[in-house]
Amino acid sequence: MIQDLMAGLDEAQAAFRTEIRALLSQERVRESAARIAAYPPDTEAAHLDVRRWLGAEGLLAPAWPAQYGGRGLGAAEAALVTEELTRAGIPDDVQVLSIDIVGMMLLHEGTETQRKTHLPPLAAGEQIATVLFTEPECGSDLSALRTRAEPDGDGWRLYGSKVYNMKSRYGEFAVCAARTTASPVPMHGITLFLLPLRSPGVHVEPVPSLGNDTFNLVVIDGVRLTEADVVGQVDDGWRLMNELLQLERTGVDFHAKARRLLDLVLDRAAATGRLSDPAYAVPLAELDAKLHAAHALAWQQVARLDAGSPDPVRSAMAKWYASEQARPVLDAGLDLYGLDAALTAWDGHAPDGGLLEAGYRMGPSHRLASGTSEVMLYLIATNGLGLL
Ligand SMILES: Cc1cc2nc3c(=O)[nH]c(=O)nc-3n(C[C@H](O)[C@H](O)[C@H](O)COP(=O)(O)OP(=O)(O)OC[C@H]3O[C@@H](n4cnc5c(N)ncnc54)[C@H](O)[C@@H]3O)c2cc1C
Repeated sequence: MIQDLMAGLDEAQAAFRTEIRALLSQERVRESAARIAAYPPDTEAAHLDVRRWLGAEGLLAPAWPAQYGGRGLGAAEAALVTEELTRAGIPDDVQVLSIDIVGMMLLHEGTETQRKTHLPPLAAGEQIATVLFTEPECGSDLSALRTRAEPDGDGWRLYGSKVYNMKSRYGEFAVCAARTTASPVPMHGITLFLLPLRSPGVHVEPVPSLGNDTFNLVVIDGVRLTEADVVGQVDDGWRLMNELLQLERTGVDFHAKARRLLDLVLDRAAATGRLSDPAYAVPLAELDAKLHAAHALAWQQVARLDAGSPDPVRSAMAKWYASEQARPVLDAGLDLYGLDAALTAWDGHAPDGGLLEAGYRMGPSHRLASGTSEVMLYLIATNGLGLL
């Protein structure tokens, strides 16, 4: 199976890609992509429109069974959705958070009631789910998290702060990690809860970021939750978080973003005759080859997910390698466009609608989101190579 996916898409997968490409090439989607690129003020509305259009066609969550709004297909089709959204200029954040991470986790670990309640609206693009792990004092080392669930009758009350999360202002609920049981072992006693984001006791405020989208600070002040809101088992959150990170760390999304930018650069280089200069063309060809390698690594992880055998070390390699390509791609863009690459989407003279400028602002986050490059190298060195 892994070899099949590495060799390319099969006929059904290729047909699925054709279907989603056709929808994403519609005029209404192109208009939405332009509204998103011209941020502000229309980003969220335009973004959600596209999600509803895709959802109505059953294209958002192809890997889920039909009764939850999917098509009963596999991880390859799910990866194709992320790739094609990015290719069409529609940000993939909501897709990754709502479908690839939260939705997939509920599919595997949720109760039937949780699945029936939450999966269909996510698959239809009607709702957004987010992830609340990172805290002001802990990100890479989530075992240090301080958000606590205090016992309250037959449930708990949650108290704590979560930061650098995306889309929480627009989401209906989040998967939130909190400490249920005190333990001398920091990884023990963590539980994952489904936290309703629009309940009293949840305060969400934007935190500025370099990118077009802001982060959020979510302050949780005594929200009451019960057993029905627990994902999996109480105190089993550490295992689930590590499982969930495998869903997130295929490298598919980071590769897709770098590929979109490199394709722009290659097209412009070809159109301006720069490719006839070997001194210029050879480094670009090398970069192109590296992105093909990143794609192959990412799809190897997709195949592992499909086979039900994700590999944390290989995922770390794929995520690290794909996310490290953003910078050389952006440098190649700067080299080609010169200072025009710094013109924003608001400037009518910006090449390619300011995509490179936006890419420059987002580029550094590739090395941070979903686990930093240093942490990926640490995982490879320790768990993979046994070096430490
Ligand atoms: C675009 C984006 C989207 C995000 N979305 C979400 C989201 O939806 N939900 C959510 O909960 N979080 C989200 N995050 C937060 C992200 O998960 C954290 O930023 C990340 O885990 C790093 O944590 P930190 O920011 O606390 O940095 P720290 O962990 O404090 O790290 C600071 C620096 O120290 C280095 N470092 C840390 N530990 C080690 C080590 N053991 N060895 C070597 N170096 C180390 C890191 O590499 C980094 O350079 C997002 C971040 C970004 C950039």
